Amino acid sequence: MSTQTTTEAKMSSDGLLKNQVALVTGSGRGIGLAIARKLASSGAQAIITDISQEAADAGAKELKDSGLKADAFVCNVTDTDSIEKMTQAVIEKYGKIDILVNNAGITRDTLIMRMKLEDWNLVIETNLSSVFKVSQIVLKHMSKAEYGRIVNIASVIGIHGNVGQANYAAAKGGVIALTKTIAKEYAKRNVTCNAIAPGFIDTAMTQKLKPEIKEQYMKFIPLGRFGQPEDVAKLAHFFCTGGSYITGQAIEVDGGMFM
Ligand code: NAP
Repeated sequence: MSTQTTTEAKMSSDGLLKNQVALVTGSGRGIGLAIARKLASSGAQAIITDISQEAADAGAKELKDSGLKADAFVCNVTDTDSIEKMTQAVIEKYGKIDILVNNAGITRDTLIMRMKLEDWNLVIETNLSSVFKVSQIVLKHMSKAEYGRIVNIASVIGIHGNVGQANYAAAKGGVIALTKTIAKEYAKRNVTCNAIAPGFIDTAMTQKLKPEIKEQYMKFIPLGRFGQPEDVAKLAHFFCTGGSYITGQAIEVDGGMFM
């Protein structure tokens, strides 16, 4: 990264999130990394966490190379101990967590008749129970500070369902219901909680799908392109900047796939 580009990245910051600490789970790559980059580009200190230290380090390095503030912490969102250690370390170093983006997620797709209980449980643990666990721990700090912005990454599948994704649909539907409950319980503490329901976004998660499946999806996207992680990041950024009177919502970012 040249000095000129680094300086440009710093100068282009709107400063809307200056002095704020933004923790994004599963942000070593994909949508999480794009969200961390977008928040950091408004001046936030991005906390990049991922299941492996290497993935977290790589994400944080990418941001720092662009002149943004980023730090890496390992965190497996299915493991309460790991979440507690990570949040403790972040609080010790930065003193607070203003923004939490629950982004980490996985798929284990197959038809209901073939779905192993193991894969059902793994997806529920990783995509839904994790949002409860991380939020519960972070909310203690947000509640004390009387400020917080939580953004949960759900999915259009959690609203509309999908063949071959019973575990994923149930988990993401649960994330939306949990979002509304957090919003109701913590509104009086000045904490907002909203969900983003992305459609088909071009990341490692969807790159592994067969070309014929991608072609099928494309037929249902009026805007005629797959989403980019940045399309999701823009809405997450809005929830954390201009969206102070918005809470308990789930907004679809899907190129018009569902209307
Ligand atoms: P991705 O590229 O696969 O990134 C997900 C990240 O989460 C990876 O870095 C992954 O690490 C990490 N992760 C997985 N399990 C974890 C755990 N237990 N603890 C901590 N980190 C973990 O996927 P993505 O497309 O960016 O997806 C991000 C979120 O958007 C997910 O919640 C997903 O369900 C949601 N979403 C995606 C789409 C889409 O079309 N891409 C659509 C709707 C919703 P490893 O890979 O190293 O395990």
